[in-house]
Amino acid sequence: MSTRLDDVDSGMTERCETCGRDTPHDVSIQLRTESRQEENAEFSREPYRVSTCRRCGAERSIRMNNA
Ligand SMILES: [Zn+2]
Repeated sequence: MSTRLDDVDSGMTERCETCGRDTPHDVSIQLRTESRQEENAEFSREPYRVSTCRRCGAERSIRMNNA
């Protein structure tokens, strides 16, 4: 039984565009209200997957598709 201990400390490893390599990230899910106050005034909170590079601090948020 072999366990990879590479990212045991990091939790999540993702590719960082800034670093140009796989780096440990802090990943969290956030509900963000779309702040386009134009015609649609309805509050639509979209779940975003926010990952922060622990190496350079770059934050990347990706909107998740609602099922
Ligand atoms: Zn980075």
